[in-house]
Amino acid sequence: MLKELLANGPVILDGGWGTQLQLRGLPIGAHPDLWNLTNPEKVEEVARAYVEAGSQIILSNTFGSSKFTLKRHGYDGDAGEVNRAGAAISRRAAGGKAKVFASMGPTGIMLVMGEVTPEEVFDAFKAQAEALAEGGADGIAVETMSDLAEASLAVQAAKTTGLPTAVTLVFDSGKNKDRTMMGVTPEKAVVELVQAGADIIGSNCGQGIDGFIPICQRMHAVTDLPLWMKANAGLPEMIDGKTVYRQDPLDFVEKAVELVRCGANFLGGCCGTSPDFIKALHTKFKETS
Ligand SMILES: [Zn+2]
Repeated sequence: MLKELLANGPVILDGGWGTQLQLRGLPIGAHPDLWNLTNPEKVEEVARAYVEAGSQIILSNTFGSSKFTLKRHGYDGDAGEVNRAGAAISRRAAGGKAKVFASMGPTGIMLVMGEVTPEEVFDAFKAQAEALAEGGADGIAVETMSDLAEASLAVQAAKTTGLPTAVTLVFDSGKNKDRTMMGVTPEKAVVELVQAGADIIGSNCGQGIDGFIPICQRMHAVTDLPLWMKANAGLPEMIDGKTVYRQDPLDFVEKAVELVRCGANFLGGCCGTSPDFIKALHTKFKETS
């Protein structure tokens, strides 16, 4: 499936979901993933907007649906239900026109603190990945990771489903923004995540697309695996107490061309990006030759 997708130039991913859900009434501070159960039609609208904009792969509204994350948001029900619903919503929206790589984000647990064992974290990710597969996911996207140990556990857990697995880290620290919060460099990430069994490696969130270019180059220098890049829409600004990203989609696309030159194979956006960004990426890479 990956080979087929990659045969015709960069694969277009989706953009941010949080802002899109807020536009549809998700209160700030509410846990978006619970909308898979309470407002599935709104979640499906977001997914469908990305498919219509030209995403070839969409994610799912399950970023915070490990049992640990759900519990922290006060959800005491079956985590499997939230995940199955999230994958199924994206699958419906994809309607055969796009693939679904279901999202798994960090648990929020600091493994180094030792409160929860690595086995427990692995089991939580495995249960999540299995539910996502049951919901119809074509692949798993482990994203927004800072801790390499947790990212590796998530990848290993995802791979037990047999689905292709992408994993992306947040490089937002160090004076060049080329380390994760836990100090992981792109090179070290590649070595360990390849070992964990990742099929696709990359970066998401944390900074604007300019900063993704050197990270992509450095990853490309140490691996032949396809690279997945989802940058934010520039730097956040505070306007009237709200976080706003103001990068123009066409400006984002210009930088994306450079990212592709540096080895990126999967292109989408993270915070502040919208279906307009995906439409612009699609126009650039899929409608002109
Ligand atoms: Zn983000």
